[in-house]
Amino acid sequence: MAIGYSVYIERPASGAIGIKTKYAKLEIYGCSHCRTHLSSSNHIMSKDYRGVTGDAYLMRKVINVTEGHRETRHMITGRYVVCDIYCHTCKNLVGWKYLMSEKRDQEYKEGKYILELEPITECD
Ligand SMILES: [Zn+2]
Repeated sequence: MAIGYSVYIERPASGAIGIKTKYAKLEIYGCSHCRTHLSSSNHIMSKDYRGVTGDAYLMRKVINVTEGHRETRHMITGRYVVCDIYCHTCKNLVGWKYLMSEKRDQEYKEGKYILELEPITECD
């Protein structure tokens, strides 16, 4: 397990003046403890999720996390095999990853992540 190596999310150069792209207001989310970058607003699939601690986002991609043990969890939308995800620097619990869904119409969540809003923060 690699420790102490974090990937940083780079903002696109803000040189393109006059053109308002969707990247102009890219938000980078990081661990609230150590500010390790975890994901950014262009990876949000849905903001309409609830985590253990409150509001959560469904993310297409999350980086710099380590995965916990896989377990089966019952949720409102069905049963899933998931694993918790932790900031790889400080081991802060930041959400979970969907590994498998028992329902076909929920399969789009497989390989995707829930990022809890409480343990993350917006980074500069
Ligand atoms: Zn951290």
